[in-house]
Amino acid sequence: MAKYIFVTGGVTSSLGKGIVAASLAKLLQARGLRVTIQKFDPYINVDPGTLNPYEHGECYVTEDGAETDLDLGHYERFLNIFTSQANNVTTGRIYQTVIDQERQGAYLGKTVQVVPHITDEIKRRMRLLGESGQYDVVITEIGGTVGDIESLPFVESVRQLQWELPESDTVVVHLTLIPYLRAAKELKTKPTQHSVRMLSQEGVHPDVIVCRTEHSLSPELRRKIALFCNVRLEAVIESADAQTIYEVPLMMMREGLDTIVMKKLELTSNQEPDLSKWSDFLHKLKRPKHKVSIGLIGKYIELQDAYKSILEAFVHAGAIQETEVEVVNLHSEHITPSNVSEQLKGLDGLLVAPGFGHRGVEGKIEAVRYARENGLPFFGICLGMQMAAIEFARHVLHHPHAHSTEMDAKTPDPVIDLMEDQKQLQAKGGTMRLGAYPCVLKSGSLAEKIYGAERISERHRHRWEFNNRYLEAFERAGMQASGVNPDTGLVEVIELKGHPFFIGVQYHPELKSTVENPHPIFVHFIQAALHQQQLSASASPIKAALES
Ligand code: GLN
Repeated sequence: MAKYIFVTGGVTSSLGKGIVAASLAKLLQARGLRVTIQKFDPYINVDPGTLNPYEHGECYVTEDGAETDLDLGHYERFLNIFTSQANNVTTGRIYQTVIDQERQGAYLGKTVQVVPHITDEIKRRMRLLGESGQYDVVITEIGGTVGDIESLPFVESVRQLQWELPESDTVVVHLTLIPYLRAAKELKTKPTQHSVRMLSQEGVHPDVIVCRTEHSLSPELRRKIALFCNVRLEAVIESADAQTIYEVPLMMMREGLDTIVMKKLELTSNQEPDLSKWSDFLHKLKRPKHKVSIGLIGKYIELQDAYKSILEAFVHAGAIQETEVEVVNLHSEHITPSNVSEQLKGLDGLLVAPGFGHRGVEGKIEAVRYARENGLPFFGICLGMQMAAIEFARHVLHHPHAHSTEMDAKTPDPVIDLMEDQKQLQAKGGTMRLGAYPCVLKSGSLAEKIYGAERISERHRHRWEFNNRYLEAFERAGMQASGVNPDTGLVEVIELKGHPFFIGVQYHPELKSTVENPHPIFVHFIQAALHQQQLSASASPIKAALES
């Protein structure tokens, strides 16, 4: 039987519940336990797939094609395991299930209510992964903040589960903020006391309190929190601001978070957490020997969460090469033919980001053109790959109006077109080409060299695709389709011959990059950027001498 850890949040949102949950999971995993994490989100969308990145940051996609909260990305990156549809549940999905059942007559004669019907469905899903027999521990992160109206049914479900299960099967970890008042030069515990009281009023008492703080907690303060929040002294855990999220597991280990949780769950492990690989990664991350500047061209750059997995993939791939990757955010709407060389000056590589809709695409196309013509390492992801195809069609194949039918439905040269099976679809939610698909790489291609394999599998999230009507002309002119779906013939990878590094992928490699397995395209892209840097330094020795 699995044990259940619930992680709730108090005082404010954005305290990093996902990172704390992932860190705790990492520590338990490093002791040899089989752990997974799931997130329950209180909003009414069935999944975050229909949400604008401004609302909710990146939409993370799992192997089985679920569009999920970006915290699942942290879970996978920390644990190096796959999550699935079952790992992210929203209020919308819960109600959808219950209402569907009601329509089918499952509750005949009964009034369908939040308690017990909604809470029963929440509990069923909270236990689903635990009952699969695959895990010793299931961590459930409850989205939102305790006290919100919409999170009440989730907290109530935790209360009921705690009552139903043996005492040693559940533990509640509450993450809260200890604000620092500069004028008083003091850390304040009152908001934490209130949030714990609120949680207790809802029937759940935390066993552990993790305190986010900008300053170290003194022993007196820890005692005060323990006393007024009614937890053991050793259950007050300090979570100070970290330089990088990857430090948090080690910080939590020093604070004894895993030990206190295991004690409550009566779990024994005869091994100390083995974090040697993790520490090695962290060591390299913090002491880089090189540095590259990569331009990230997107239209949501004001909001870093929109490109979370890409940024983390750079961290992973940079660290193993002892290279700091400075990501220079460039707004695609601000790039024009006349300023492109100025905007991209000094960069060692260019990544054109995924995206949807018309806004900013011309800037992306300009940036691709610059990279293609100037031998600047280029990496296009999803929409970024599509932009590379359009740029090539316009400027090399001389189709000046080439476009994607997503942006220009009447283009005479739809080099990117809607997939056949997408044409009849009306519903927006969950209907893109989603999740893992196989891809076969051409022998002798850059892609094959990067992966060191002929057959790969990567995750997708898109509706449009490369139009194979143009493939022959592309290949004749030097743009090769080096990765193709073996079942459908869809082009998944394009690369430019004779360029130092120019690759576009229709899928999202960033979703599969983890601390332990940095993604090979990111690794090779950084290598190419380093190489480019050396080349430009040797090409202008005076400039290099001046800079050193
Ligand atoms: N908008 C494009 C499509 O749907 C690209 C999507 C993406 O970049 N994820 O095909």
